[in-house]
Amino acid sequence: MLHSPPDSDSRRKRLLENHVTRLHRCRSCPRVIPPPVSGGAVGSDVMIIGQAPGVREPTLKRPFAHTAGKTLFRWFEESCGLDEATMRARIYFAAVIRCFPGKAPGGSDRMPATDEIRNCSGWMTAEFEILRPRLVIPVGRLAIMQFIDCQKLDEVIGRSFLVSRGEVDFDLIPLPHPSGASPWHKISPGRELVVKAMRQISRHSAIKNLTRSSQRSQR
Ligand code: SF4
Repeated sequence: MLHSPPDSDSRRKRLLENHVTRLHRCRSCPRVIPPPVSGGAVGSDVMIIGQAPGVREPTLKRPFAHTAGKTLFRWFEESCGLDEATMRARIYFAAVIRCFPGKAPGGSDRMPATDEIRNCSGWMTAEFEILRPRLVIPVGRLAIMQFIDCQKLDEVIGRSFLVSRGEVDFDLIPLPHPSGASPWHKISPGRELVVKAMRQISRHSAIKNLTRSSQRSQR
């Protein structure tokens, strides 16, 4: 499928603002803990898709606001020269579900349930229709599995996939979840595969455009 021409920036911004306002009001899932977390109405050709907010993100009112975010933003700064503020201003942040799922009996964050993922997928579908992204970066296995099969991270990290959602075609470059819960990204072969994935991301034309426009605005 071909990419349709993108909406004009102002129309896209207006649609996104409306979308984010409605998202903040969503209370469709009785077992999650609202409010929904959003990175805001950022018109972008790049989407980062996390799994679900942690316990702190609803208070801090932004995704990847705690330890996992520190690692994620470091990867981008080192590989792409994009700092956290630039990423938050120029990349659209989505997630498999937008509300904190609560804690599981063992004390870790509860995995989102199938009905919650289904409920929340409508928000992501709308975001694909508005943004028509060229590059999508799912972070963590649950996010990756919304687009491609992922039995083992070793089989997908470090690779690029051409994927369609609805009428939108885009490149998908998966990353592992950067939280400390799994050491996969810190030990071989995960460590080397993350470097490979970040190199592919840094060379993608949508990221190069972001880097160039960020450098221009700093002059
Ligand atoms: S998880 Fe998604 S669908 Fe469920 S209440 Fe939160 S925003 Fe709405």
